[in-house]
Amino acid sequence: MTIATASLAAGAQTGGDTFRYTDETFADIQMLRYRVEGFENLTLRQKTYIYYLSEAALHGRDILFDQNGCYNLRLRRAFEAVYTGWQGDRNSADFRAFAEYLKRFWFSSGLHHHYGCEKFQPGFTSEWLRAALQSVWVEKNLQPLCLATCAKGSPDGTLSPEAACDRFCQEVFPVIFDPAVMAMRVNQRDGDDLILTSAENYYGEGITQAEAEEFYTQRKAPLDPHPVMTGLNSRLVRGDDGLREEVWREHGLYGQAISRIIENLEKARPYADNERQQAVIDKLIEYYRTGDLRTFDEYSILWLKETDGLVDFVNGFTETYGDPLGFKASWESIVNFKDLEATRRAETLSRNAQWFEDHSPVDPRFRKPEVRGVSAKVITAAILAGDLYPSTAIGINLPNSDWVRREHGSKSVTIANLTSAYSHASRGSGFDVEFVIDEPTRQLILKYGDQTDDLHTDLHECLGHASGQLLPGTDPDTLGVYGSTIEEGRADLFGLYYMADPKMQELGLVPDGEAYKAHYYTYMMNGLMTQLVRIKPGNSIEEAHMRNRSFIAHWVYEQGRKDNVVELVRRSGKTYVRINDYAALRTLFGRLLGEVQRIKSEGDFRAARALVEDYGVKVDATLHEEILARYAALNLAPYKGFINPVYTPVTDQYGQITDVRVSYTEGYDEQMLRYSRDYHDLPDVN
Ligand code: ZN
Repeated sequence: MTIATASLAAGAQTGGDTFRYTDETFADIQMLRYRVEGFENLTLRQKTYIYYLSEAALHGRDILFDQNGCYNLRLRRAFEAVYTGWQGDRNSADFRAFAEYLKRFWFSSGLHHHYGCEKFQPGFTSEWLRAALQSVWVEKNLQPLCLATCAKGSPDGTLSPEAACDRFCQEVFPVIFDPAVMAMRVNQRDGDDLILTSAENYYGEGITQAEAEEFYTQRKAPLDPHPVMTGLNSRLVRGDDGLREEVWREHGLYGQAISRIIENLEKARPYADNERQQAVIDKLIEYYRTGDLRTFDEYSILWLKETDGLVDFVNGFTETYGDPLGFKASWESIVNFKDLEATRRAETLSRNAQWFEDHSPVDPRFRKPEVRGVSAKVITAAILAGDLYPSTAIGINLPNSDWVRREHGSKSVTIANLTSAYSHASRGSGFDVEFVIDEPTRQLILKYGDQTDDLHTDLHECLGHASGQLLPGTDPDTLGVYGSTIEEGRADLFGLYYMADPKMQELGLVPDGEAYKAHYYTYMMNGLMTQLVRIKPGNSIEEAHMRNRSFIAHWVYEQGRKDNVVELVRRSGKTYVRINDYAALRTLFGRLLGEVQRIKSEGDFRAARALVEDYGVKVDATLHEEILARYAALNLAPYKGFINPVYTPVTDQYGQITDVRVSYTEGYDEQMLRYSRDYHDLPDVN
C-alpha cells in the first residue's frame, strides 16, 4: 500500500542555496526535484550499493510502459523521434502542443492520465504528426515500428519508407486521436466489462472479464492458509487450448528487462549492509528467475524482517491498482536509506525524554514516572522508478499479501525528503507571498521554517505521543470519536510548547531563541486560515489532524484576545494572521497542553467534545470563501512528480568504483530521453 499526499504547508524557499525544488510546469503537472540529503556522507560501499540498486531500478522502466498499454513502447519511440529530430518551427502551436503531450505521456508511462486514467486528447493535428513522422522516419530508423497489428509480428521489409510510415499512422492514429479507442486505462464503471473496456495490457486481445474471473477462481485454493497472490506476475492471454499466463520472469515475458535487473542486483549484492540483505537479494533473484509466487512470499518475509541495514529497496511487481480486477501488479522500484539526520535528532530527543516529561506544563499526576521516547522510521529516497516515478508516494507499507502481513507483519516508512520537497514546492509557489502578513515574517520563515517544521514533527512523534499517562481506572476509549483528534492535538501541543524552550538550544536542535517563531507563525496561519483550502465550500472540518490544528489555533486565538496575542487583520480586502506576542502565545500553548492532557488522563468526554466542536470543526463561511478565491488565483498545478537525481560512478584505472557523485541538474525531457536510450531493454512490440 502507498500513502499519497500533497503538502500544503506554508512557508518560504530555503535561503542561500542553489538547489531548486521546483522545475517546469505543463498541463496539470508541476515537476519537482528531491534532494538526497546525506548521500555524500555515506561510505563508498553504501554509495556503490545504492548505485547498482538504482541501476536495477531504472532497468524496469519499459515494463511499466508496456503494462500500461500495448502501443506505448512503439509510440514512445515514434514520439521521441519527432521530438528530437523534427526540423520545423519549434514555436509553432502544433509542436508546442505535441511537446506538452509527450511530457504528459512520459509522466504517465503511457497514453492515459496517471490519476484519472482517461486518454489524453492531443492538441496537434493528425496531419501535422503524419508529416512530422515522415520527415524523421528514415533518419531515426523507424521502419521496424511498422507492423500489421499490436500482436507479435515482424517488420515488413518490402514497404518503402513512405508506405511504411503511412501504414504505421493508419494503425496507431485511432489510438492517439480517436477519443473512443482505448478511452480509459482502467475502467471501474459498474456494469461494463472491465477488461474489454480497459486499455491496460494485463489481458490479451478479446479476453472478457467473465473469462478472466473464471480462470482465477479456478486457481484459487480456498483452504490454503498461505495462499499466493494468484495472477500477480503474468499477462493472461488466449492460447490454442484456452487461456494461459505469460509469466514475467527471466526467460519469459519482459525477460530482457528482468535479466538487466538481475544483473544489477548481482552487482549490488557484494556491497549489501549485511548478510540478511544478501539473502533478500538472492531470494528476489530466484523469484525473478522462476516467477514462482511462493518464492515471492518467502522473499517478502525476508525483506520485511530485515530492518538493521542502512540501505533498503523495493524492486518488483508490487501494487495492483492498474488492473481493474486487482490481480496483476505494476512494476515499481524505490531505493532508499535511513535519514541519518532525522535519526540523530530523534535519538537526541529520545535520550532526553525524561527531562521533557518532568518539565511538561501538566498536572504532575498525569506525567509518566518513567518515559521512553520513540524513534521514528524515516527514510531518504535515492531513486524512484516504474510506477513510483515521476508521480510517487510519500509513505510505503509492504508487503501486500494478507497472510504475510497477519503472520509476519509489514514494513512501514515515511519518505522525508519527498515530503520536504513537496513542502518546499508549495513555498516557492507564491503561497507565502499571498498569505504571510509581511516581508519580515516571510524572512523569518525563510530562515528557520524547514528546521522548525522537522523539529516539530520529531517532538510530536518521538515525545508527544509517548508522554503522559491515564489516571488509574480511566478507559482509554472514553473519548470515542474525539479520541484521535485529542491525541494528535496533545502531540502537536507538546511540540509547540517545547519548541520555544531554551532546552532546544542547549541540545543543539535550534540555532537561537528566534527560530521557534517561524513555526508558531505558520502553525497559526495554517490552523486559522490556509488549511481551509482543502475543504470544499459549505463543508466543515472532518479529518482528525485538520481538526486538531483548528482547535489549537482557534482556542489560543480566543484565549489571547483580551491581550491581543494573535490578531486577524484585514488589508485591502484580505485577511492575515498577525502575532503580537510570541512569548504569551507559548504560555497559551502550555495551558492548552495542560488541559488536553487532563482531558485525556481523566477521560473527560464532555470536555473533549466541547473543545473539538467549539474550536475544531466549524468553518467561517466568509473567510473560507476568501481563502479559496485567493488560493485559486495562485493557479497551482494539482499534480506533482519528481525528476530523479543522476548518479555517476567515478572509477579508477582498473574500473573499480572509487566514488559515486550525485547531481540534480538534469532536465525533465533530458532525463526521459536518457532513460529511453540507456534503459530501453524491451523490444518495441511485446
Ligand atoms: Zn501524531
